[in-house]
Amino acid sequence: MRPLFIVISAPSGAGKTTLCDLLLQNYPEICYSVSCTTRKPRINEEDGVDYHFLSVETFKKMIAEGRFLEHALVHDNYYGTLKAPVYEVLREGQCMLLDIDVAGAEQVRNFVADLPDDDPMKIGFIDIFINPPSLEELLSRLEHRGTDSQAVIEKRVRNAEKEMDRANEYMYQVTNDDLHTAFKRLCDIINVKAQLI
Ligand code: ADP
Ligand code: 5GP
Repeated sequence: MRPLFIVISAPSGAGKTTLCDLLLQNYPEICYSVSCTTRKPRINEEDGVDYHFLSVETFKKMIAEGRFLEHALVHDNYYGTLKAPVYEVLREGQCMLLDIDVAGAEQVRNFVADLPDDDPMKIGFIDIFINPPSLEELLSRLEHRGTDSQAVIEKRVRNAEKEMDRANEYMYQVTNDDLHTAFKRLCDIINVKAQLI
């Protein structure tokens, strides 16, 4: 596969992690960009695998050092994508997958738009927004996941509407109603892009 630079966003609970995990299992040539965050790890999360878990102080120092391709404050915590691994993976001819919020995606989109047209990062770039079937289903998935407090869940659902208002900024949208159907649509988008470049 040609080196694709794939950005995926979705409201929390829409199933982005589930879909990204399926993509990574099915496409060994896709690498997952491990983000940095100041959020506390969830019970099943491993430092360096799910996220690089950092203190606010360290995160801010890394912002000042210019080490992030993008960063944003999401649900009261900092999140950011390190520049170095993205460049390295794409330089090696592999694909890079970013799971980031709408503000981060906008920064990446603007960055890519300013690149020369023959830059591999620009040629391989696609961004995809995952929609939940409804806000009720989103709430239900977050509650069933059981990883967040009720206050955190309520904040995430409140933010979801604002995030979904920006779905049309993305090249593609996928609704994660039935998981198998959503995954197939995601694969179709990626396969078509890979054939085009
Ligand atoms: P996100 O990464 O977007 O926050 P997750 O991938 O953690 O979301 O999914 C949230 C919850 O919803 C998880 O418990 C997951 O198993 C479940 N889930 C994901 N996709 C579907 C689907 N298509 N139908 C029903 N439940 C789903
Ligand atoms: P969670 O805390 O549920 O893992 O993620 C919360 C939100 O932060 C999700 O929308 C996720 O896509 C986003 N996110 C994760 N990593 C990054 C990142 O590196 N940059 C930005 N801007 N958002 C991120």
